[in-house]
Amino acid sequence: MQLGSQTLALAYLGSAALFILGLKGLTHPASARRGNYYAIAGMALAVAATMLSPAVKSYAFIIAGGVTGAVIGTIVALRIKMTAMPQLVALLHSFVGLTATLVAIGTYLTHARAGAPGGVLMAELFAGSFIGTVTCTGSLVAFAKLQALITGRPLVFRGQHLINLLIALAILGLGADFVLHDRFASLLLLTLLALVLGVLLILPIGGADMPVVVSMLNSYSGWAAAATGFTLQNNLLIITGALVGFSGAILSYIMSRAMNRSIVSIILGGFGGGAAGPETAAAAAAGKGVKSAAVEDAVFLMGNAAKVIVVPGYGMAVAQAQHALKELMETLEAKGVSVKFAIHPVAGRMPGHMNVLLAEADVPYDHVFEMDEINPEFATADVALVVGANDVTNPAAKTQKSSPIYGMPILDVYKARHIFFIKRSMKPGYSGVENLLFYQDNCALIFGDAKHVCERMAVELKSL
Ligand code: NDP
Repeated sequence: MQLGSQTLALAYLGSAALFILGLKGLTHPASARRGNYYAIAGMALAVAATMLSPAVKSYAFIIAGGVTGAVIGTIVALRIKMTAMPQLVALLHSFVGLTATLVAIGTYLTHARAGAPGGVLMAELFAGSFIGTVTCTGSLVAFAKLQALITGRPLVFRGQHLINLLIALAILGLGADFVLHDRFASLLLLTLLALVLGVLLILPIGGADMPVVVSMLNSYSGWAAAATGFTLQNNLLIITGALVGFSGAILSYIMSRAMNRSIVSIILGGFGGGAAGPETAAAAAAGKGVKSAAVEDAVFLMGNAAKVIVVPGYGMAVAQAQHALKELMETLEAKGVSVKFAIHPVAGRMPGHMNVLLAEADVPYDHVFEMDEINPEFATADVALVVGANDVTNPAAKTQKSSPIYGMPILDVYKARHIFFIKRSMKPGYSGVENLLFYQDNCALIFGDAKHVCERMAVELKSL
């Protein structure tokens, strides 16, 4: 059975509508699950309609590729830890980029055999190959950084912007040559240069800016998919690519504003670095030593508090401490303590990471507050309980100009009357920057796994 062009167009329209409903659903935790179902239905419809489209001449390769991909995808999805999601997303973006490049080259070879391809198609092939290759290698470098295969520190060298500019100009020149003179060698050469450019653009970006980079690469992968859609004359791929491209770009803009970064600087690379001065405030603070506290100390103060603000971070995700935290919250509330959760926009390792985990543990939405809403409340909090968060609380972002995280807005934990940090060691957070808060007089560290510590807190609190 094959679909007629009108039925196919209708099916694609239905898929596009479902994708838009899916995105809409993802704008709030309460509707996120529904949004995912819409997107799944949209994708199922898209795949079924494409399989039945007249463009498909043989199923052998499609089935072989589909089965292989489904097996690998299922295994990876079952095994992947929630905390490793950003690197998985980065890796998947690289596949989208690679596909765009391969489709561009393959389409050129097919058309070249049948006669000279038209100028518009040639321009699409140039765009597809360029964007696809930059996305591919850029995403691979992001993956390597997030997976700690290479250092997360920014690799900055002199003249990097000039080199990037020269490479970009060379790519544009080769692109023009390819489009105007139908020279395949130029397409191959520009693809090689784009490969290098992708690496050079992401290498200088430091750990603290990786959230924006991952979402930028997400956006690039959308543009690469849209370019492929033009090449294959597939309207749904164009629409889907544009949805991903625009939503990724908007998310990057929101995140870069939340982190007080210039998005242009992040795209051009070289952010998140900056050498610390010889005698930093952190080094000076280190001379004071760090206080550690027992679970009982924190429980006593929290049990007698009027307001406790909980600040979850990446460590909560690692320890899967969200259920224990929920129990702690309920125990505190049973004693008349007001408990609020403070969420930083880049806490954890992906946008919305903390919201997802707290929602999974059924923490009520009205207990969860975004940074701007909760920051004025720290000054009146008796206790701030920081559960596996670090960078997002570091006052160095406000006070230390030489710090890589300088300028990033933070949760104003330092204003609380008492601060307890649950973490396992004295290791710094993702950005590698020492947290000045540890040396503040009102701060104490409770060393241990976040889940175990929160469970013990709830038990101790019940017997208080
Ligand atoms: P951080 O990475 O700054 O700190 C996490 C803390 O959790 C560490 O201090 C670690 O200390 C502690 N920890 C780890 N495992 C456990 C455990 N089992 N129990 C208790 N503590 C634990 O996290 P934040 O959430 O504060 O900040 C996020 C950082 O990640 C930012 O720098 C952000 O830019 C970056 N990032 C964010 C992304 C996003 O989209 N949200 C994406 C990529 C990066 P110890 O090892 O001593 O236990």
